[in-house]
Amino acid sequence: MALLHVSRRRLWIALVLVVIGAPAYYAAVMYSPKADESAYTFDAAAVRLLADSLPGDKPSEIRFENVMAFEFAGAMVVAGDRWRGTPLPVYSYQLVYPQQTVIVDTAMPRSMAKPDFMVPAYDDEAYGRVSAALPKASLIVITHEHMDHIGGIASYPEPARLLPALRLSREQLAHPETMAPAKLAPELVAGIVPLQYEQMLAIAPGVVLIRAPGHTPGSQMVYVKRADGREVLFLGDIAWHRRNIELVRERPWFMTALVGENRAQVLPELSALHKLAQSNPEIHQVPGHDGEVVQALVAAGLMQAGFEP
Ligand SMILES: [Zn+2]
Repeated sequence: MALLHVSRRRLWIALVLVVIGAPAYYAAVMYSPKADESAYTFDAAAVRLLADSLPGDKPSEIRFENVMAFEFAGAMVVAGDRWRGTPLPVYSYQLVYPQQTVIVDTAMPRSMAKPDFMVPAYDDEAYGRVSAALPKASLIVITHEHMDHIGGIASYPEPARLLPALRLSREQLAHPETMAPAKLAPELVAGIVPLQYEQMLAIAPGVVLIRAPGHTPGSQMVYVKRADGREVLFLGDIAWHRRNIELVRERPWFMTALVGENRAQVLPELSALHKLAQSNPEIHQVPGHDGEVVQALVAAGLMQAGFEP
Protein backbone atom coordinates (compact mmCIF):
# COMPACT_ATOMS: atom_id res chain seq x y z
CA MET A 1 0.00 0.00 0.00
CA ALA A 2 2.81 2.39 0.96
CA LEU A 3 4.53 1.75 -2.33
CA LEU A 4 1.35 2.36 -4.23
CA HIS A 5 0.84 5.57 -2.25
CA VAL A 6 4.31 6.88 -3.14
CA SER A 7 4.01 6.02 -6.77
CA ARG A 8 0.61 7.71 -6.95
CA ARG A 9 2.12 10.82 -5.37
CA ARG A 10 4.93 10.74 -7.89
CA LEU A 11 2.38 10.43 -10.63
CA TRP A 12 0.64 13.57 -9.38
CA ILE A 13 3.95 15.46 -9.22
CA ALA A 14 4.77 14.34 -12.74
CA LEU A 15 1.35 15.46 -13.92
CA VAL A 16 1.71 18.87 -12.27
CA LEU A 17 5.18 19.26 -13.82
CA VAL A 18 3.79 18.48 -17.25
CA VAL A 19 0.87 20.88 -16.81
CA ILE A 20 3.19 23.70 -15.71
CA GLY A 21 6.25 22.67 -17.72
CA ALA A 22 4.77 21.97 -21.13
CA PRO A 23 3.44 25.51 -21.74
CA ALA A 24 6.67 26.98 -20.34
CA TYR A 25 8.73 24.77 -22.67
CA TYR A 26 6.49 25.71 -25.59
CA ALA A 27 6.85 29.44 -24.85
CA ALA A 28 10.61 29.35 -24.27
CA VAL A 29 11.70 26.91 -26.97
CA MET A 30 9.01 26.31 -29.59
CA TYR A 31 7.04 29.53 -30.03
CA SER A 32 7.74 32.26 -32.56
CA PRO A 33 5.09 34.99 -32.69
CA LYS A 34 3.63 36.30 -35.92
CA ALA A 35 5.43 39.31 -37.35
CA ASP A 36 3.92 42.78 -37.55
CA GLU A 37 4.56 43.06 -41.27
CA SER A 38 4.06 46.81 -41.43
CA ALA A 39 6.83 47.56 -38.95
CA TYR A 40 9.78 47.17 -41.36
CA THR A 41 10.13 47.64 -45.10
CA PHE A 42 13.07 47.00 -47.39
CA ASP A 43 13.09 49.45 -50.31
CA ALA A 44 15.23 47.66 -52.92
CA ALA A 45 14.88 50.47 -55.48
CA ALA A 46 16.15 53.08 -53.00
CA VAL A 47 19.05 50.84 -51.95
CA ARG A 48 20.09 50.32 -55.59
CA LEU A 49 19.92 54.07 -56.30
CA LEU A 50 22.24 54.73 -53.38
CA ALA A 51 24.60 51.93 -54.44
CA ASP A 52 25.01 53.69 -57.79
CA SER A 53 25.25 57.17 -56.24
CA LEU A 54 28.98 57.24 -55.51
CA PRO A 55 31.30 57.53 -58.51
CA GLY A 56 34.01 54.97 -59.18
CA ASP A 57 34.45 51.25 -59.75
CA LYS A 58 32.37 48.82 -57.74
CA PRO A 59 33.98 45.78 -56.08
CA SER A 60 35.07 43.09 -58.52
CA GLU A 61 35.27 40.34 -55.88
CA ILE A 62 33.76 39.40 -52.53
CA ARG A 63 36.14 37.27 -50.49
CA PHE A 64 35.73 35.69 -47.07
CA GLU A 65 37.61 33.99 -44.28
CA ASN A 66 35.89 31.33 -42.16
CA VAL A 67 37.68 31.78 -38.84
CA MET A 68 35.73 29.38 -36.64
CA ALA A 69 32.34 27.83 -36.01
CA PHE A 70 30.08 27.66 -33.00
CA GLU A 71 28.29 24.34 -32.52
CA PHE A 72 24.64 25.01 -31.66
CA ALA A 73 21.49 22.91 -31.80
CA GLY A 74 18.88 23.57 -34.46
CA ALA A 75 16.38 24.35 -31.67
CA MET A 76 18.62 27.27 -30.62
CA VAL A 77 18.60 28.80 -34.12
CA VAL A 78 14.96 28.42 -35.21
CA ALA A 79 12.14 28.18 -32.64
CA GLY A 80 10.55 24.74 -32.96
CA ASP A 81 13.46 23.09 -34.80
CA ARG A 82 15.05 19.87 -33.55
CA TRP A 83 17.76 19.53 -30.88
CA ARG A 84 20.25 18.37 -33.47
CA GLY A 85 23.78 19.78 -33.73
CA THR A 86 24.17 22.55 -36.27
CA PRO A 87 27.25 24.65 -36.98
CA LEU A 88 27.33 28.46 -36.93
CA PRO A 89 30.47 29.41 -38.86
CA VAL A 90 31.98 32.84 -38.15
CA TYR A 91 33.10 34.92 -41.13
CA SER A 92 34.92 38.06 -42.10
CA TYR A 93 34.27 39.47 -45.59
CA GLN A 94 36.53 41.47 -47.90
CA LEU A 95 35.21 43.55 -50.82
CA VAL A 96 37.99 43.86 -53.38
CA TYR A 97 38.16 46.95 -55.62
CA PRO A 98 40.87 47.71 -58.19
CA GLN A 99 42.52 50.19 -55.80
CA GLN A 100 41.12 49.41 -52.34
CA THR A 101 39.46 46.88 -50.06
CA VAL A 102 36.52 47.14 -47.65
CA ILE A 103 36.15 44.76 -44.70
CA VAL A 104 32.72 43.73 -43.39
CA ASP A 105 32.86 42.05 -39.95
CA THR A 106 36.09 40.88 -38.38
CA ALA A 107 35.35 37.57 -36.53
CA MET A 108 37.07 37.23 -33.15
CA PRO A 109 40.31 35.99 -31.61
CA ARG A 110 40.72 32.48 -30.22
CA SER A 111 40.84 33.87 -26.68
CA MET A 112 37.17 34.95 -26.99
CA ALA A 113 36.00 31.71 -28.61
CA LYS A 114 34.34 30.21 -25.53
CA PRO A 115 33.00 27.91 -24.16
CA ASP A 116 35.37 25.29 -25.57
CA PHE A 117 32.72 22.61 -26.01
CA MET A 118 30.74 24.94 -28.29
CA VAL A 119 33.74 25.87 -30.43
CA PRO A 120 34.94 22.63 -32.05
CA ALA A 121 37.30 24.30 -34.53
CA TYR A 122 39.29 27.53 -34.75
CA ASP A 123 41.51 28.50 -37.70
CA ASP A 124 44.43 30.62 -36.46
CA GLU A 125 45.75 31.16 -39.98
CA ALA A 126 42.40 32.46 -41.22
CA TYR A 127 42.24 34.87 -38.28
CA GLY A 128 45.83 35.92 -39.04
CA ARG A 129 44.80 36.79 -42.61
CA VAL A 130 41.86 38.87 -41.31
CA SER A 131 44.17 40.75 -38.91
CA ALA A 132 46.70 41.37 -41.68
CA ALA A 133 43.98 42.71 -43.99
CA LEU A 134 42.51 45.17 -41.46
CA PRO A 135 45.16 47.94 -41.57
CA LYS A 136 45.28 47.72 -45.39
CA ALA A 137 41.53 48.28 -45.77
CA SER A 138 40.21 51.70 -46.75
CA LEU A 139 36.96 51.03 -44.85
CA ILE A 140 36.05 48.67 -42.01
CA VAL A 141 32.40 48.20 -40.99
CA ILE A 142 30.55 45.68 -38.83
CA THR A 143 27.00 44.40 -39.13
CA HIS A 144 26.64 44.69 -35.36
CA GLU A 145 28.39 45.12 -32.05
CA HIS A 146 28.78 41.48 -30.97
CA MET A 147 32.14 39.88 -30.16
CA ASP A 148 32.12 37.51 -33.16
CA HIS A 149 31.84 40.51 -35.52
CA ILE A 150 33.77 43.29 -33.76
CA GLY A 151 36.31 41.07 -31.95
CA GLY A 152 38.95 41.43 -34.68
CA ILE A 153 38.87 45.23 -34.28
CA ALA A 154 38.73 45.19 -30.48
CA SER A 155 41.71 42.86 -30.15
CA TYR A 156 43.86 44.34 -32.93
CA PRO A 157 47.25 45.03 -31.29
CA GLU A 158 47.81 48.49 -32.84
CA PRO A 159 44.32 50.04 -32.78
CA ALA A 160 45.47 53.46 -33.99
CA ARG A 161 46.31 51.89 -37.36
CA LEU A 162 42.64 51.00 -37.86
CA LEU A 163 41.26 54.42 -36.97
CA PRO A 164 41.42 56.01 -40.47
CA ALA A 165 39.29 53.20 -41.98
CA LEU A 166 36.99 52.36 -39.09
CA ARG A 167 33.32 53.31 -39.50
CA LEU A 168 31.15 52.43 -36.52
CA SER A 169 27.67 53.83 -36.09
CA ARG A 170 26.53 55.98 -33.19
CA GLU A 171 24.30 53.12 -32.01
CA GLN A 172 27.13 50.57 -32.16
CA LEU A 173 29.44 52.83 -30.17
CA ALA A 174 26.72 53.57 -27.62
CA HIS A 175 26.54 49.92 -26.50
CA PRO A 176 29.91 48.68 -25.21
CA GLU A 177 28.06 46.22 -22.93
CA THR A 178 26.75 44.43 -26.05
CA MET A 179 30.34 43.98 -27.30
CA ALA A 180 31.54 42.17 -24.16
CA PRO A 181 33.89 40.42 -23.70
CA ALA A 182 35.24 42.42 -26.67
CA LYS A 183 36.19 45.96 -25.66
CA LEU A 184 37.26 48.79 -27.94
CA ALA A 185 40.65 50.34 -27.19
CA PRO A 186 40.39 53.80 -25.55
CA GLU A 187 42.13 55.46 -28.53
CA LEU A 188 39.44 54.08 -30.85
CA VAL A 189 36.61 55.25 -28.60
CA ALA A 190 38.20 58.69 -28.31
CA GLY A 191 39.23 59.05 -31.94
CA ILE A 192 36.39 57.66 -33.97
CA VAL A 193 33.77 59.89 -35.59
CA PRO A 194 30.49 57.93 -35.36
CA LEU A 195 28.44 57.31 -38.47
CA GLN A 196 25.01 58.88 -38.21
CA TYR A 197 22.24 58.04 -40.62
CA GLU A 198 18.50 57.50 -40.47
CA GLN A 199 17.76 54.62 -42.85
CA MET A 200 20.51 54.07 -45.41
CA LEU A 201 23.98 55.32 -46.16
CA ALA A 202 26.24 54.77 -49.18
CA ILE A 203 29.80 54.34 -47.91
CA ALA A 204 31.64 53.24 -51.07
CA PRO A 205 30.74 52.60 -54.73
CA GLY A 206 28.24 49.73 -54.67
CA VAL A 207 28.08 49.52 -50.86
CA VAL A 208 25.10 50.68 -48.74
CA LEU A 209 24.49 50.37 -45.01
CA ILE A 210 20.84 49.75 -44.05
CA ARG A 211 19.63 50.29 -40.50
CA ALA A 212 18.05 47.20 -38.94
CA PRO A 213 18.08 47.48 -35.13
CA GLY A 214 16.73 44.64 -33.00
CA HIS A 215 19.28 41.84 -32.75
CA THR A 216 21.40 44.61 -31.24
CA PRO A 217 20.72 48.38 -31.15
CA GLY A 218 23.46 48.96 -33.75
CA SER A 219 22.53 46.18 -36.17
CA GLN A 220 22.70 47.09 -39.84
CA MET A 221 22.67 45.23 -43.15
CA VAL A 222 25.35 45.74 -45.78
CA TYR A 223 24.21 45.71 -49.41
CA VAL A 224 26.89 45.14 -52.05
CA LYS A 225 26.53 45.54 -55.80
CA ARG A 226 29.52 44.06 -57.58
CA ALA A 227 31.14 45.54 -60.70
CA ASP A 228 29.35 42.86 -62.75
CA GLY A 229 26.00 44.02 -61.32
CA ARG A 230 25.40 40.96 -59.13
CA GLU A 231 24.04 41.73 -55.66
CA VAL A 232 24.71 40.42 -52.17
CA LEU A 233 23.02 41.51 -48.93
CA PHE A 234 24.82 40.77 -45.68
CA LEU A 235 22.13 40.44 -43.01
CA GLY A 236 24.35 40.30 -39.97
CA ASP A 237 22.57 38.27 -37.31
CA ILE A 238 19.01 39.38 -38.05
CA ALA A 239 18.98 35.74 -39.13
CA TRP A 240 21.61 33.20 -38.14
CA HIS A 241 20.42 30.73 -40.78
CA ARG A 242 18.38 31.03 -43.98
CA ARG A 243 15.60 29.00 -42.33
CA ASN A 244 14.78 32.01 -40.10
CA ILE A 245 13.81 33.90 -43.26
CA GLU A 246 12.26 31.01 -45.18
CA LEU A 247 9.92 30.25 -42.27
CA VAL A 248 9.79 33.81 -40.83
CA ARG A 249 10.62 32.25 -37.48
CA GLU A 250 12.72 33.81 -34.76
CA ARG A 251 15.31 32.23 -32.54
CA PRO A 252 13.57 30.67 -29.52
CA TRP A 253 12.71 33.01 -26.67
CA PHE A 254 15.40 31.59 -24.37
CA MET A 255 18.08 32.47 -26.95
CA THR A 256 16.75 35.96 -27.69
CA ALA A 257 16.63 36.54 -23.92
CA LEU A 258 20.23 35.34 -23.63
CA VAL A 259 21.33 37.65 -26.45
CA GLY A 260 19.20 40.55 -25.18
CA GLU A 261 17.48 40.84 -28.55
CA ASN A 262 14.36 42.88 -29.31
CA ARG A 263 12.12 40.30 -30.98
CA ALA A 264 9.44 42.88 -31.81
CA GLN A 265 12.00 44.56 -34.06
CA VAL A 266 13.59 41.43 -35.54
CA LEU A 267 10.39 39.61 -36.57
CA PRO A 268 9.21 42.34 -39.00
CA GLU A 269 12.74 42.39 -40.46
CA LEU A 270 12.55 38.62 -41.06
CA SER A 271 9.19 39.14 -42.71
CA ALA A 272 10.51 41.97 -44.95
CA LEU A 273 13.50 39.83 -45.97
CA HIS A 274 11.19 36.89 -46.71
CA LYS A 275 9.21 39.14 -49.06
CA LEU A 276 12.42 40.51 -50.58
CA ALA A 277 13.65 36.97 -51.31
CA GLN A 278 10.44 36.34 -53.24
CA SER A 279 10.26 39.67 -55.09
CA ASN A 280 14.02 40.07 -55.67
CA PRO A 281 15.71 36.66 -55.62
CA GLU A 282 18.66 38.20 -57.49
CA ILE A 283 19.62 39.96 -54.24
CA HIS A 284 21.52 37.12 -52.56
CA GLN A 285 20.89 37.28 -48.82
CA VAL A 286 23.69 36.15 -46.52
CA PRO A 287 22.59 35.32 -42.95
CA GLY A 288 25.14 35.81 -40.19
CA HIS A 289 26.22 32.20 -39.70
CA ASP A 290 24.98 29.91 -42.50
CA GLY A 291 27.73 27.85 -44.11
CA GLU A 292 25.42 26.35 -46.73
CA VAL A 293 24.48 29.78 -48.04
CA VAL A 294 28.11 30.85 -48.27
CA GLN A 295 29.07 27.63 -50.08
CA ALA A 296 26.22 28.12 -52.55
CA LEU A 297 27.48 31.64 -53.29
CA VAL A 298 30.97 30.26 -53.85
CA ALA A 299 29.53 27.69 -56.28
CA ALA A 300 27.63 30.48 -58.06
CA GLY A 301 30.83 32.49 -58.45
CA LEU A 302 29.64 35.35 -56.23
CA MET A 303 32.17 34.81 -53.43
CA GLN A 304 35.66 33.39 -53.09
CA ALA A 305 37.31 31.70 -50.13
CA GLY A 306 40.42 33.41 -48.76
CA PHE A 307 41.29 37.09 -48.46
CA GLU A 308 43.47 38.78 -51.02
CA PRO A 309 46.99 38.58 -49.60
ZN1 LIG B 1 27.19 36.53 -34.90
